[in-house]
Amino acid sequence: MTEWHHISIEDALTRLETSLTGLDSDEVRRRLAAYGPNELEEKARRTPLVMFLGQFTDFMIIVLIGAAVVAGIIGEPGDAAPIITIVVLNAVIGFAQEYRAERAMAALREMSGNYAAVLRSGEHLSVPAREIVPGDLVLLEAGNVVPADVRLAEAVHLKTVEAALTGESLPAEKLSEQLFDSDLPLGDRRNMAYKGTVVAYGRGIGIAVATGMGTELGRIAAMLQQEAGTKTPLQRRLADFGKRLALAVLAICAVVFTLGLLRGEPLLLMLLTSISLAVAAIPEALPAVVTITLALGARKMVRQNALIRRLPAVETLGSVTYVCSDKTGTLTLNKMTVENVWPGDLEGTDAGSSGVSAATLFTTALVLCNDAREDSEGGLVGDPTETALLAYGRACGVIRTEIEALHPRVAELPFDSERKCMTTFHRDGDTVLAFTKGAVEVLTARSVAMLTNNGEVPLDRQEIERVTVEMAARGLRVLALAMRRWPYLPDRLESDEVESDLIFLGLAGMMDPPREEAAEAVAQCRNAGITPVMITGDHPLTARIIARRLAILEDDGDAVLTGRDLAELSPEEFEARVEQIRVYARVAPEQKLTIVKALQNRGHFVAMTGDGVNDAPALKRADIGIAMGITGTDVSKEASAMVLLDDNFATIVRAVREGRRIYANILKFITYSITSNIGTLVAITLAPFFGLPLPLLPIQILWLNLLCDSLPGLALAGEPAERDVMSRPPVDPKEGVFAGGRGYYAAGYGLVIGAAALAFQAIALRMRLPWQTMVFTFLVLNRMAVVLAVRSDRTSLLRIGIMSNRPLVGAIVITFCLQLAVVFTPALNPLFHTEPLSVRALVATVVLAMGMVLLSELQKGVLRWRRGSSR
Ligand code: ATP
Repeated sequence: MTEWHHISIEDALTRLETSLTGLDSDEVRRRLAAYGPNELEEKARRTPLVMFLGQFTDFMIIVLIGAAVVAGIIGEPGDAAPIITIVVLNAVIGFAQEYRAERAMAALREMSGNYAAVLRSGEHLSVPAREIVPGDLVLLEAGNVVPADVRLAEAVHLKTVEAALTGESLPAEKLSEQLFDSDLPLGDRRNMAYKGTVVAYGRGIGIAVATGMGTELGRIAAMLQQEAGTKTPLQRRLADFGKRLALAVLAICAVVFTLGLLRGEPLLLMLLTSISLAVAAIPEALPAVVTITLALGARKMVRQNALIRRLPAVETLGSVTYVCSDKTGTLTLNKMTVENVWPGDLEGTDAGSSGVSAATLFTTALVLCNDAREDSEGGLVGDPTETALLAYGRACGVIRTEIEALHPRVAELPFDSERKCMTTFHRDGDTVLAFTKGAVEVLTARSVAMLTNNGEVPLDRQEIERVTVEMAARGLRVLALAMRRWPYLPDRLESDEVESDLIFLGLAGMMDPPREEAAEAVAQCRNAGITPVMITGDHPLTARIIARRLAILEDDGDAVLTGRDLAELSPEEFEARVEQIRVYARVAPEQKLTIVKALQNRGHFVAMTGDGVNDAPALKRADIGIAMGITGTDVSKEASAMVLLDDNFATIVRAVREGRRIYANILKFITYSITSNIGTLVAITLAPFFGLPLPLLPIQILWLNLLCDSLPGLALAGEPAERDVMSRPPVDPKEGVFAGGRGYYAAGYGLVIGAAALAFQAIALRMRLPWQTMVFTFLVLNRMAVVLAVRSDRTSLLRIGIMSNRPLVGAIVITFCLQLAVVFTPALNPLFHTEPLSVRALVATVVLAMGMVLLSELQKGVLRWRRGSSR
C-alpha cells in the first residue's frame, strides 16, 4: 500500500496518472467504472421479502392465524381460509405502505447527498461527491466535509477536524510538504486530509488517493452506520399510547370472550371473535401511517425547495414559534452591486510620493483582496459581496487577471466571520503589499492613518463613522479597505500581528435588495403566531433598514441588539429580553447558540438558519436547524434537519405551512381510526348486556379493519390544508394526541356509533331482517362518514367542498362498491356470512350510516356559532 504522505506531490501525481489541472471527463468516466462510486457501502437494507414477512411478526396476528388454523381443523373449515386470506391481504397492504415509505426515505437520502468542488481539465466544477475518483483534484475550503482521502498539494492555513477518525476534536493544522517518516499514525500525517473529516479553516487542494470503501473512513464504516430511522416525537407518543391502548383492548376482548361464553356462544367462535377484535382495534398500523404521511409530505416539500434531512422535522415544523433567519441571501437576494464608494472623487489625481493615486490603490485593493473569479465565459463566480467588488473594479477599468499578474498573491489570511475581515499579501517589486477588507469598525480599530492624495493623514474616525451611518441608513452593506506595506513577507501570519497598523483606504457601500416574497412571508409568519427574527453579521443600521422594509421590525427602539451588547448581558438578563428582540446585528456565529438557548429556555420552539461551519452548533441545538442549499457549507447541511434549496426565507414559511397540514392530517387519521374502533368495540362489548347476539363475526371484523384502515386512511394524508392553517397558533409540541378535545370527540362519537349500531341491530332483529349484514354494512359505511366528518374540526364539509380531496372520494366509492360486492355477490355470501339486502334495508343502512355526517355538521355549526357569539 502506498504511504501517500511519505512521497512528494510530483510522485503522487505520477502514480495516480494525473496532473495539477486535474483529470479530463473521459478519464473520470473510466475510473468511475473501474473504482466504483465514492460512497460507503450501506448496511444491507431489508429485502422486500423480509419486509413482507415482518408483517406477520406481530404477536396478535400470529395468535389470530393460530386460532384460525385450530378452528379450521376442529370446527368450521369454511371460516379459516377467508380469515387467513384477509390477514395475508392485510400484510400485503402493510408491506406496500412500508415499502413506499422506505422508497420515499431512500429518495430523500439520495437527494441530500453532498457536492464537492474539483478541478477537471483546468476548470472548477461542482460535482456530486460520489463521483470523485482517485486522481481527481479536490478543492477544499472551510466548511467542507473532505469528500475522499487526499494528499494535499496546497494548504493555506488549512485546518481540519478529524474527530470522526481519530477522536481528536481540536482542529489539526495541515501542510503540503512531503513527510519523511513513513510510519506516522493517521493523526500525524499532516499532508493528508481524510474522507469524512471537516475543514474548519483555510483552504487547500488535494489529490484524491482513495475513494469510497478504500478510504480510512471506509475501513471503519461499519462502525459508523447511522441508525436507520429515528422515531418522531409523535411516533414515540403513539407507540407509548399504542401500548396502553393494546392493554385496554385486550382487557375488553377478555370481557367480550367471557360474556360470550356465559351467553352460551361456542368457545371457538368467541375465541376467534375476541382475537379478531383485538387485531382490528389495536392501532398497530398507526406508526406506519405516520411514517408514510411524513415521507410523502417530505417528498412534496422538496418540490417546494425544502429538502428534509430528518423526518421528524416535517412534524415539528408545525410547532415552530420563532424563525431566526440570516439576512444575507435568505431575506435578501444576495445579488449585490456597489452603489457608493468613499472617498470616491480622487480618480486621476496625483498621489504624491507613491506615484499611484489613493483611488487606484483603493480599487486595486477591492479587486486583489478578493476570492471571486472570472469563469471561462467572463461571468463572475464566488461570494456575491466579492463578485460585486470585482464587477465594480471592472467598471473602473481594473481587471483582476491583469493586476494580479503584476502583483501576484503570495500569502493570505482567509475571511472568517469571527474576525469579520480578510487579508491578502501581494508582491510589489521587492516589497510586499498587504490589503485587508472587512467590517468598518474592525478596520478602523486596526488602522492608524488614512491614505489620501496628499499622502497619509491621521484617521478621522468620526468622519468614517458618519459616512458609514449615511450609507447604512440607505440599507447599504458597507465594507472597508485598508493596506499595509511590508519590506518582506512576514514570517508569522497571525491576525493580531499582520492585521494591525493598517492604512485606511476607503469604504464601499453595496446594495443587496430584500427578496420580494420575503415581506409577504414575514406577514404570514406573524399571522401564524410565529415571530420572525433577523440575525446578521452586518452593521446594525443596515440590518435595521432591511428589517423595517420587511416589517420584521415595527418601530421599536428596543428591538435591535448587537453582538457586543449581547456578549455583555448575563444569560438571565438576556433571557429576560430575548422575546422583545427582532434583529441581531454584528453577531458572531457562536452567539446564535446563545440566542437559540435563551429562546428555548423561554419555552419556544426555534427554527434557525445557518450556512457556515460555526453555525453548526446552533443548527444542531435548534428544534429545526435549516441550512442553505446554495451558499451553505457541508458542515451546516449535515448539522441541520432541513435544507433550503433556494436559500429563500419564504420557503421556510411554506414548509411550516406544509408541516402544519401534515401534522393536522396525521391527527385526523388518528381521530378517524380511534373513533371508528371505539364504535365497533362498544357495539360488540355491550351487545350481550342488551340481550343481543354478537353483532359481527370474526371475518367481518377483519374485513372492516382491512377496508377502512387502508384506502381512506391514506387518502386522508393527501387532505389539502385547511384555509386557516396559517392563522392558527403553532401546535404545542408537548400537546398529547388527544388534546384539543380530540379525546372527547373520539369517545363521544364512538359511543354514539356503538349505540346506533346496537339500536339498529335490535330493530332489524325484531323486524326479522338480515340484521347481521345490516349492522356489518352500517359499520363499514359509517366509517366513510367518519372520514368525511374528521376532515375539519370546525369548517363545514360544504365549505371545504366534497371534491377538494378526490383521492378520498375515490377511496369512499371503492370501499362502498367492495362492501356491496360482499353483500350482493352470491359466491361471497357464505365466506362473509352475509345475505343480500332489500333496497329498503340498504337505503336505511346507508342513511343511518351517513347520519354521522349530519350530526358532525350540526356540532360544527354550534361550535362556530358559540365561537362567533363569544367574540
Ligand atoms: P448574514 O449573517 O446576514 O449572512 P453577513 O454576510 O453580514 O450576513 P458574515 O458573513 O458573518 O455575515 O459577515 C460578517 C461581516 O464581515 C460582514 O457584515 C462584513 O462586514 C464582513 N464581510 C463579509 N464578507 C466579507 C468578505 N468576503 N470579505 C471581507 N469582509 C467581509
